[in-house]
Amino acid sequence: MRLQHHDFRPADLVGGDPALDLVNTVTARDTEPRDWLDDYAALLRWAQRSGAFAEADLSALQTQAAQAPAKAAAALARCKLLREALCDALYALAHGREPSQADLDALDQARLTASRAARLVSLDSRLQTQWTVQRSGLDLIAHTLTAYAIELLKDARLDRLRVCDGRDCGWVFLDTSKSGRRRWCDMATCGNVAKARRFQQKQRE
Ligand SMILES: [Zn+2]
Repeated sequence: MRLQHHDFRPADLVGGDPALDLVNTVTARDTEPRDWLDDYAALLRWAQRSGAFAEADLSALQTQAAQAPAKAAAALARCKLLREALCDALYALAHGREPSQADLDALDQARLTASRAARLVSLDSRLQTQWTVQRSGLDLIAHTLTAYAIELLKDARLDRLRVCDGRDCGWVFLDTSKSGRRRWCDMATCGNVAKARRFQQKQRE
């Protein structure tokens, strides 16, 4: 898969869940996929945009990554293994198929690794699973996203899981529209392109 530098924008986060937005860090999965996580710094920029991580944690990770670039690269590779297994499973589910055993095994492995690093904390009289830089190190983002992914895969919201109809997209998203007939990740991008293409076709005919 080709790596491409990318400046993440709010419009890149249309999945409706951080786990889906992680999958969408690869674009054009339907044609010539481009991977926007070209290095660990890109993962940090994406994580910051996602709003799912504390600034203090991200800056601690930035320091760690600068001190140990090889370890950061390995952590990024682990995060991508999670991303691709999750993507395969979601594509299968979106098309009414069962996820493959290999993908389930990969997700299960990620779940076990993440849960070993987790701790239970009490927050407002409720127990919560929490990941910290101290225990997860450079895998903090992957560990946290694993939890999002597992929750999502067990969630009824998955009934509304869609793969965008747009060309050069392939993004996944939760259709929260009332009608449940949303076809595009974003009406402003893929939706408009599809409409313009149909309009041009009609003009030619
Ligand atoms: Zn799209």
